[in-house]
Amino acid sequence: MARIKCLPRDVVEKIAAGEVVERPASVVKELVENAIDAGASAIAVEISEGGMARIAVVDDGCGMDPEDLKSCVLRHATSKIAVGEDLFRIGTMGFRGEALAAIGAVSRLAILSRPNSPDVVEGARIDVDGGVANGPVVAGCAGGTQVEVRDLFFNVPARRKFLRSAAVEAGHIMDVVETLALSHPSIRFDLTADRNRRLSLPVCIDDGSAMLGMERVISVLGGKFRGRLIPLEERGVEISIHGWVAEGGRAGGKDAHFFLNRRPVRDRILMHALVEGLEEREIAGAGPAAVLWIEIDPMQVDVNVHPAKREVRYAKGGAVHDFVKASVRKAIAACGSWIVDRESRIVMNDSYPSDGVALTMRRFEDRRLGVPLLYKEGIGEVDRDLPLLTSPYKGGGLRPLGQLGLSYILCEHEDGSLALIDQHAAHERLAFDVLRAQFADGRVHVQRLLIPQRVELGAKESAVIIEQLGALENAGFEVEPFGGGSVMVKAVPEILGDAAVAPLFARLADEFEELCSSVALAEAVERIFAVVACHRQVRAGDKLSPDEVSALVADIERHGVATCPHGRPAIVRIERSEIDKWFKRT
Ligand code: ADP
Ligand code: MG
Repeated sequence: MARIKCLPRDVVEKIAAGEVVERPASVVKELVENAIDAGASAIAVEISEGGMARIAVVDDGCGMDPEDLKSCVLRHATSKIAVGEDLFRIGTMGFRGEALAAIGAVSRLAILSRPNSPDVVEGARIDVDGGVANGPVVAGCAGGTQVEVRDLFFNVPARRKFLRSAAVEAGHIMDVVETLALSHPSIRFDLTADRNRRLSLPVCIDDGSAMLGMERVISVLGGKFRGRLIPLEERGVEISIHGWVAEGGRAGGKDAHFFLNRRPVRDRILMHALVEGLEEREIAGAGPAAVLWIEIDPMQVDVNVHPAKREVRYAKGGAVHDFVKASVRKAIAACGSWIVDRESRIVMNDSYPSDGVALTMRRFEDRRLGVPLLYKEGIGEVDRDLPLLTSPYKGGGLRPLGQLGLSYILCEHEDGSLALIDQHAAHERLAFDVLRAQFADGRVHVQRLLIPQRVELGAKESAVIIEQLGALENAGFEVEPFGGGSVMVKAVPEILGDAAVAPLFARLADEFEELCSSVALAEAVERIFAVVACHRQVRAGDKLSPDEVSALVADIERHGVATCPHGRPAIVRIERSEIDKWFKRT
């Protein structure tokens, strides 16, 4: 019996499409990139229902004649590369020649186009309905191209299920358009969502100065950055960088944009270099704002990456990191007016110094190491030789000796061993367990804010928060939508004390973004607890009074602690016999 059969063509195409088209924002990205490649000077995007019902992208670029129109929807059809070596010298945004074919396989696609030249008076139209092409036929059309995508994933119900609310999907689309607009200041961009204008970015005139793009940066990041952007420009051997950095961006690196050889990337190495370059100057609860264009010899970076991802592979990652970090440092040093020292950073914060970017970096790191995001009992991918406690430490016998480097509490155990406690991890764990216990008892203790606090988050972030209002309520929050990308916070879990609310919500939005909208309530609540526990807690770098140290140690003895909610160790113990060995006393 023959068990192996070739898949039918339409199945193959749907599978291939799934790799390019993940959500409405990926369609917008592909279509806008095509318009940019076509030399457009104005690009208008219209969406309805978060792009799930309809996406239209209209450009005034070079257009296509009927023959090109017929081939542009075929797989591996592209006008952008002809031979293999071209792959290493890509100047265009797209080159795989699969976007339109993929989109056509999973939607109802219509393309109208007319070559943008005075002697062509007629346009043409082609339709692709779930992979079945029709046309081209003669059609009236302005010079340029109009692409319309209706009913995305109508024939892939499994994909549709993974889509989020219209507001969240629209938020992703905003991100995509903003990012592309940043890297193309001389193109006009408009975005309309359900007939409301969401973005209107006029052309920035190229006056030949390095300032081209600054107006665009300000219109995307927000008017508050006017006069506060620090210019940066540096040239190396195989690498150069230019752009702007500023303080006061949103937490979590949301206002940090990187372009590598003009392509937008979200890259760990670059983000880390920026944060280090800033020497952690960002003020508590905020992150860096930056728009940085980095050019690297195309032979030194791998551009042939997955089309839906924006990650990069470098030939010399370490050198890229150090160059970016040094460039940021130099720019800041050259600009004396922006000095935020550690002291004022603490004063300006209304509770303790939190560090959104460091947290985000840690999460990146966690993911890279495969460490689970949520409380896995026991130990993640850490050095197995460490004398770690694998089960919660419980019971008395700990005598605090003092604090090491404002980060660790040293204790002597009655059996003679030395215990090192990570003060942040331990505190976080204790708070997390308290919240879980309250939840299990049926009610998380709530404190009402004297003055409800409006938290500005941005369109997508507030949408993901609103998706989880139910879970937030269960976790002890009272939150209401407020419009304009913000929410009103009226009550928070008691355990938070007077910790700042804004960075907490930025972090929650981050966390929710990864959750599927249909996630079980209990799981969403636990995620919230982990964020809350992390935010109220004593951080590494906080000086603790002897009383605070004793209180923490007593809590640990009472409740037991092994790891923080993210699975990092909280206590390490070194046996007396081990110490004796160091001193050759055995
Ligand atoms: P790729 O962009 O990787 O070449 P696509 O499937 O996105 O593949 O597009 C296929 C081809 O269709 C492009 O190479 C280009 O020649 C043509 N095309 C697509 N969109 C446009 C547009 N907006 N204006 C002009 N030509 C376009
Ligand atoms: Mg393309």
